[in-house]
Amino acid sequence: MKRGWERFVCSLLMVVLVSGYGYAEVKSGSNATPPPYREGELIVKYRDHVSEARRMAGHSRHGSKRKKEFRDLHMEQVKIRPGLSVEKAIREFEADGDVEYAEPNYVLKATNVPTDPKFYSTWGLTKINAPAAWDNTTGSAGVVVAVIDSGIDYNHPDLKANMWVNQSELTGRPGVDDDGNGAVDDIYGYNAVSNSGNPMDDNGHGTHVAGTIGGVGNNGIGVAGVNWSVRIMACKFLAASGSGYTSDAIECLQYIKKMKSRGVNIVATNNSWGGAGYSRALSDAINAQRDILFIAAAGNAASNNDTTATYPAGYNLPNVIPVAATTSSDGLASFSNYGRRSVLVGAPGYSILSTYPNNRYVSMSGTSMATPHVAGLAALIKAKYPTQDWRGIRNLILSGGDRPVSLSAKTVTGRRINAFGSLTCADSRVFSALKYPSIIQPGVATTLSALSINCANPAGPVTVSLSGGEVMTMRDDGVSPDLAAGDGVFTVSWIPVRAAETFYFSSPVGAETVTVGK
Ligand code: CA
Repeated sequence: MKRGWERFVCSLLMVVLVSGYGYAEVKSGSNATPPPYREGELIVKYRDHVSEARRMAGHSRHGSKRKKEFRDLHMEQVKIRPGLSVEKAIREFEADGDVEYAEPNYVLKATNVPTDPKFYSTWGLTKINAPAAWDNTTGSAGVVVAVIDSGIDYNHPDLKANMWVNQSELTGRPGVDDDGNGAVDDIYGYNAVSNSGNPMDDNGHGTHVAGTIGGVGNNGIGVAGVNWSVRIMACKFLAASGSGYTSDAIECLQYIKKMKSRGVNIVATNNSWGGAGYSRALSDAINAQRDILFIAAAGNAASNNDTTATYPAGYNLPNVIPVAATTSSDGLASFSNYGRRSVLVGAPGYSILSTYPNNRYVSMSGTSMATPHVAGLAALIKAKYPTQDWRGIRNLILSGGDRPVSLSAKTVTGRRINAFGSLTCADSRVFSALKYPSIIQPGVATTLSALSINCANPAGPVTVSLSGGEVMTMRDDGVSPDLAAGDGVFTVSWIPVRAAETFYFSSPVGAETVTVGK
């Protein structure tokens, strides 16, 4: 793994080689400008067991100050010495033996796009077969989805009843952190921009997302969401402008993790934002909450995420579900990113009508709008199958969908979600190669992986055969390089002997042949 400084230089140079996997040449962006970041700041990851005194001594040496601490991640948001550039500060910190890595505090943005709405309707709910799904369940007040975004207008009449409420703060004393979670008066969630307990939306994006997840159904007004009943927790990190910082996104993840550890039944976070470079800190923060699905917009650059990774959708973590946007005729939306090996599924994301602050309803487009259809479905599945964990829920989302032609070469599953299909899944098979080297280097170990599931469950055994007749068994045991046991992604480490190879991936639910270097 490269250290932060090297990654930073590489991103300036545009091309980062990420150790030869399926999408090997990862470019930092589609244009020559480096990812924007906040001047005067870093995110610093300390080695485990570095004491508070040593950290403080380090700040004294570097002339820096701690702005925020992400305690269980051993990270800090740091204000660097005045006049020092971010790149020089990264070099200084990474030369420090107590520091594991340091990186810029990247800017992230809401991923909606301006379009001319052709019509105002919740066609997306019909398309994903939500009305039929609602015969099974309309959701549960016992299931929570956290919206990491610009906040939520928690007073909106179509959202108010479905907002998650922190009872001890609702009934507690104003100005007091009644539940001792580090946030004062956090009744509906948290605001990492103002460091307060008030996540009111001053942009509109987060309120729109929330309405798709859980606009109150059957109340005679406005719009329904994928869930008629659910609890939505708000965490605001995007400012009124629609952009925010990686450090504040991490703070939201930490708040959500803490509330989950206290028993709040958070099944997923909705992440309709992105656009920054690779952040090891953000990846580590998402990986630290494996038991919460991280549902992420694929991006709106109309580009191929297999070759031009975008984050956070591009983090190679098993709980991340990258989502492409589809149209009412089941095409891939013109703006939507895609990725045969990197974007898992599609969902409606064009001209989506939903809630907006101050009792309004508007149509918006983007992978931002596709993502909450999937986050909403995660909650609906959890309502019907309370004992399913993140793995089963993810796999039911992936296997329950329909297969429009437009998505077959553009996503891993080739599917657009279908809520009814997920809730009533029976013998629905998904098989796809995920990782393989795009350039083979003989003698250098690399990882091969494949998704093999039938509805909620892994479908093994999975094998991969090579040109020379070798057969390797892929494992879903959580032992490195496999990331998670029992999640239906099967993995094997392999040392190539030839520079060209034909891989034949096979399991009881499917097979795929991939040729590289020929
Ligand atoms: Ca509190």
